[in-house]
Amino acid sequence: MLKIEIAEEIGFCFGVDRAVKIVESLLYKGTKVYVTGELIHNADEMKRLTELGLCSIDINDEKWPDLSTATVVIRAHGIPIEVFERLKDEAQNVIDATCPVVITLSDSIKSAEENGFEIFLYGHEKHDEVQHLKSVVKQVKVVESYEEIKNVSKKIALFSQTTMDIDGFSKISGKLGEEVSKLSTLLIKNSICHVTLQREREVKRLAKSDDLCLIVGGKNSSNTKKLFDIAKKLNTRTYLVLDSTEINEKWFDSVQSVGICSGTSTPQRIINDIVERLRTFKI
Ligand code: SF4
Repeated sequence: MLKIEIAEEIGFCFGVDRAVKIVESLLYKGTKVYVTGELIHNADEMKRLTELGLCSIDINDEKWPDLSTATVVIRAHGIPIEVFERLKDEAQNVIDATCPVVITLSDSIKSAEENGFEIFLYGHEKHDEVQHLKSVVKQVKVVESYEEIKNVSKKIALFSQTTMDIDGFSKISGKLGEEVSKLSTLLIKNSICHVTLQREREVKRLAKSDDLCLIVGGKNSSNTKKLFDIAKKLNTRTYLVLDSTEINEKWFDSVQSVGICSGTSTPQRIINDIVERLRTFKI
């Protein structure tokens, strides 16, 4: 019988769970609810919420639909503050579901800037959270490696997007400590969210201990992709699936054990479906 191991930390993280519950409760009350772009990066969950009545607007559109009787919910990783201001002008209500972890990071970056630090952020330029942080402190320089940090000033601070990998962050902060600290005042703040850190630890454990590893989540979810990349390096039999229908039974030839981990936007019901499907395999 196939041994199924599930990561200790799985399903929605608390930030995503909070945002989804806010939207759900408004929809159940009959409120017209909009989000900017996707509330979360999971096609299955977005389909469910859309069927309940959730609508979406594109922040880049010059003209939005009439929002004067609508409530707009801000997603967990935030939006640029100028968009937030425009929404407050156009919508009846704006509810900010930005995760408290992201708000704490944005406050820390603001305070570092006020204290004269040049700010570097380990992150992906196009990620929603980075767009939000760059709108709070315009001078933030987004980097993905130490080599991108050049011509530093006398006081520099390094932060991380909340969903980045700890190995990449440690590499940059280690190098900065060796090369730059003699010349500058250096502030290093590991601002990676503890939920994603724990998932990284779990995925490493499962990828090493199980024959096959399943990462469950949206293909456009940055933290899901990160977990997949980490696991794939440790276990070549690693697969990224959105839901149980994407699992191919042939992957399980001569497999005795499977480890399951998920991105932070993956609902628990999808994990349950996957476990149910795996239990039907004749192994
Ligand atoms: S991953 Fe962390 S920072 Fe991002 S929404 Fe979830 S709890 Fe908040």
